Amino acid sequence: MRQTTLRPVIRVIQENCVNCHKCIMVCPVKMCNNGSGSTVEFNSDLCLGCGECIHACDHHARIGLDDFDLFMQALKGGTNIVAIVAPAIATMFGGEYLKFNGYLKKIGVKAIFDVSFGAELTVKSYLAYQKQKQPPLIIAQPCPCLVSFIEIYRPQLLPYLAPADSPMVHTMKMIKRFYPQYAGYKIAAISPCYAKRREFDAVGIGDYNVSFKSMLDHLENTQEKISSYTPIPYDSPPAERAVLFSSPGGLMRTVERYDLSASSHTRKIEGSPEVYNYLAHLDKAIKVRSISHYNLVDCLNCKMGCNGGPATPNRKKQLDEIEMNIERRNNAAKAYYRKHGTERSAKRKLEKLLDDYWQEGLYDRSYINRSELFKRNVKIPSRKEITGILVNMYKTQERDILNCSSCGYENCEQMAVAIFNGLNQPENCRHFLDIEKDLINQQHKAELDKMITSVYGHIREEMHKSIQGIDSLTKLINETATAILTSTTVVEEMVENVRSVHNTLEHNAKNVLKLNTSSLEGKSRITAIGTLITDVATQSDVLIQACKVIGDIADETNILGMNAAIEAAHAGEAIGKGFAVVAGEIRHLADNSGHQALEIEKSLKSIKRLIDSSTESSGHAQVQFDTIVSLAGAVKDEELRIKNAVETQNNGGQQIMQSLKTVNSLILQIKAEATALLESGTTVLDNISFLKNHESDRI
Ligand code: SF4
Ligand code: SF4
Ligand code: SF4
Repeated sequence: MRQTTLRPVIRVIQENCVNCHKCIMVCPVKMCNNGSGSTVEFNSDLCLGCGECIHACDHHARIGLDDFDLFMQALKGGTNIVAIVAPAIATMFGGEYLKFNGYLKKIGVKAIFDVSFGAELTVKSYLAYQKQKQPPLIIAQPCPCLVSFIEIYRPQLLPYLAPADSPMVHTMKMIKRFYPQYAGYKIAAISPCYAKRREFDAVGIGDYNVSFKSMLDHLENTQEKISSYTPIPYDSPPAERAVLFSSPGGLMRTVERYDLSASSHTRKIEGSPEVYNYLAHLDKAIKVRSISHYNLVDCLNCKMGCNGGPATPNRKKQLDEIEMNIERRNNAAKAYYRKHGTERSAKRKLEKLLDDYWQEGLYDRSYINRSELFKRNVKIPSRKEITGILVNMYKTQERDILNCSSCGYENCEQMAVAIFNGLNQPENCRHFLDIEKDLINQQHKAELDKMITSVYGHIREEMHKSIQGIDSLTKLINETATAILTSTTVVEEMVENVRSVHNTLEHNAKNVLKLNTSSLEGKSRITAIGTLITDVATQSDVLIQACKVIGDIADETNILGMNAAIEAAHAGEAIGKGFAVVAGEIRHLADNSGHQALEIEKSLKSIKRLIDSSTESSGHAQVQFDTIVSLAGAVKDEELRIKNAVETQNNGGQQIMQSLKTVNSLILQIKAEATALLESGTTVLDNISFLKNHESDRI
């Protein structure tokens, strides 16, 4: 962090910052923020420490700084410390704020003083100043943010700033002056405000500014329950209505104790940016109207007063809930003083007490004109320079000055001042971005136009090619369809032929079967005939043998006949004659028999030869039948094979036919699709031309 004159009371956590500029938007002085980079930094010398940005930042990129760690370390180290507690404490712990004193004592704080009593002294200081100097206007200064604002940004109001310390510093000075037992003790302020630390620096008193937030975080982390502590009263005298000081108008209501008409001449104003706008224009207003009406400005930075200070958890709470506790305390404080008498005597009692702790000049405060810090950090551009910056931001006409505050500034001119000082950049202006976007769009449009023209050209070219291709394809498809049709006819014929051959083969198969059967039958018969012929041949042989035997017998008979004849010749005529006749007959018979036997044998031999020839022929026939049977079988097998082949061919033909039909149907579909594609291509081409002609209007 760079060296600054004013102590930083807030810190930026860069890694959390998303550069949303909300902090600039809520910042009452704007120029302390540097939004020219990727995160928003801030310049402590221009920062008021108001903490508005802490609450505005949704990303926890801004946190308040206080002396909590140093305070706790000092306590642990045995440092003697007294604490002063801001009146806003009454908004904490459900009204049991005195129990917090018990806790402070437990952690080692030696004494605890109520800043409300310091506020009573503050009012006394104001009234004393008013009485003595009778200034036309007093601007109250309990709020260090407003003091910083006047010192840095509106030094012309310094003469009106109450020349008296704040209630906290009154309390500290009172301790130093009137409580010698705490001399040398460090003083810790338990406060709702981070900027208080700067006031202590300026006045040179006060050692630790310990924020409510840090204390509450610590209590939570250590699981301390304030309700479990014993309430301990303050070591300072009790305040009366100055306990209201932490609420808006608290000063005014305290002054009312002395001046019932106080509200009629007091300007009560609080909250950013209202109070800053008011103060920013106050010096001019003073000049114009000479402050004839208001002579006191009771002002605070925070809308809820110090009750909703940046270091409290109260900003998100309901206002009534917050102020109710303060009002209750106010009633109790007033009741305390009235306890022993009338209002008048109560007032006297309080005044006496205040006199005891008030001393001329003790609580005087002076201020520093810190406008040099502003001048050093912020240069005010001339009208011409502002115009130049606005022109750079594309703001050349009145309507370009949107004053929309999107950049975080109140208006375009303030943004121009920030840019002039390097605290922002045109890129954070909505109008600039819109124009840049338009320019970029136009540039993109021109490039796009060019690209579209080129792309359309290519597309058109390609579409033409595609259409030509589709055209050629359609022709090819037509030719293919015709060829397929022709093929279908040829295949149909072929299938028909195959079917016819198949039928013929079916028919032939029957004949071949018959042939085969009859061949087998013939073979069987010829075999049977062969057997019979063999039997006949055998019988012929037997007959031939028998004929030979007969021939032999006839020969023998003939011999016998001859012998008989010889015998008959020997036997005499009577006997021999008959016997010779018989012998002759026998010889005749024998001759006949022999002759016939020879004839028979001859015939038999002739038959035998015929039989043999038949046997041979039968053998041949058998062989031929075998051959026929074998051939018939082979024909049958061949026929079967051919038939199977033809059947396969037939099936194949059928499948081919089916496939051809499918192909034909597909070709017809393709043809239809190709025709549709051709039409689409033409439509696309028409559309491309249409789009090309209208694209510029569309973008
Ligand atoms: S509010 Fe500021 S600090 Fe927070 S994220 Fe936005 S730019 Fe960053
Ligand atoms: S603390 Fe206040 S003055 Fe400082 S940067 Fe934040 S909003 Fe601005
Ligand atoms: S137009 Fe730009 S410069 Fe003007 S206020 Fe809006 S964002 Fe800021």
